[in-house]
Amino acid sequence: MSGKITFTIIKPDAVGKGHTGKIIDQIIQAGFKVKAAKLVYLDERTAGGFYDIHRERPFFKDLVAFMTSGPCMPMVLEGENAVASFRELIGATDPKKAAPGTIRNLFADSIDANAIHGSDSDENALRESSYFFAATEIF
Ligand code: AMP
Repeated sequence: MSGKITFTIIKPDAVGKGHTGKIIDQIIQAGFKVKAAKLVYLDERTAGGFYDIHRERPFFKDLVAFMTSGPCMPMVLEGENAVASFRELIGATDPKKAAPGTIRNLFADSIDANAIHGSDSDENALRESSYFFAATEIF
């Protein structure tokens, strides 16, 4: 049984280009409810902790540099089959491979600056939500 919660971050490239409103609108039009949202400017420690599972990967340093390059918007979302349906909405990690009409197809430039994050499992959705939000901030 798949859960109703997923977690996303509108990344610094998309926020910096003024795409935040359009992306949130697309998320809501797709049937998701925003349960928590805030604008944050990550420091190295916080971004590195979020992507801790990628610490040994060759792209880790660039990923942290990118995620600390400007403000971003973490959000907790509710929807049916949330993790899988949200990943469908955002498209493939590499925007060149993202299906037409997906958020990454519309707003992302590269595998680094790929506009948006989406949790890959129910377990990570909960872990990532509580990394950024206290229980009292999730409605
Ligand atoms: P995630 O898959 O969401 O846990 O986060 C991995 C993130 O690392 C992706 O969203 C990309 O922004 C970034 N990244 C940069 N280079 C690569 C790569 N070669 N393969 C996968 N992810 C990459």
